[in-house]
Amino acid sequence: YRKDKIMKLLIASGNKHKIYEFRVLFEKYKDIEVLSLADLDDHDEVEENGTTFSENAFIKAKYFYDKYKIITISDDSGICVPSLNNEPGIYSSRYSGFGDEANNDLLLKNVEGKDRTAFYECDICFYDGTEPQFFIGKCYGTLGYERKGINGFGYDPLFIYEGKTFAEVDIETKNKVSHRALALKDFIVFFENKYKF
Ligand code: IMP
Repeated sequence: YRKDKIMKLLIASGNKHKIYEFRVLFEKYKDIEVLSLADLDDHDEVEENGTTFSENAFIKAKYFYDKYKIITISDDSGICVPSLNNEPGIYSSRYSGFGDEANNDLLLKNVEGKDRTAFYECDICFYDGTEPQFFIGKCYGTLGYERKGINGFGYDPLFIYEGKTFAEVDIETKNKVSHRALALKDFIVFFENKYKF
């Protein structure tokens, strides 16, 4: 690839929050065309049967790279609570089986009386048909006793970072310190180096 060529990069995610964060990040690269699964009208459900975030990220990246032969990144992420053996972990989105609200209720119930330290983790996998590359970001905080704030998604109303939940701060503030932002930062270093932007 040369700088004067348009390069396509597929974001293998159906999560619009994640896609938005990726798009913002790639805005400055005018010669990269960022595609999402929605752009391709692809609604395939890939079974995430790995045992780690990285494995699941690779499963998704490989599935869509093999299908479209477009270089691909995917992200698998979740919240981990050390006092709960790092659960919900890879089961974050399906913790209760009944969506975000029920997930937050279940987490509040399970962490009662235990240490409330928690971290978000995001593993990004880049795959171009050769060796997969992994970029991992973690963000440490604590779990509140009740929901606070209306921004963000998932467990953000419970996740307290420097005195405020991720749902109480704006997206720019979250994007400076979040697990996804940190993993993306590492990915960008690799990506710029690989393609000499
Ligand atoms: P995935 O889409 O299979 O990677 O699942 C990610 C799940 O982890 C989401 O459904 C949320 O429950 C949780 N999660 C990951 N990142 C965040 C975040 O930035 N804020 C809140 N919840 C998150």
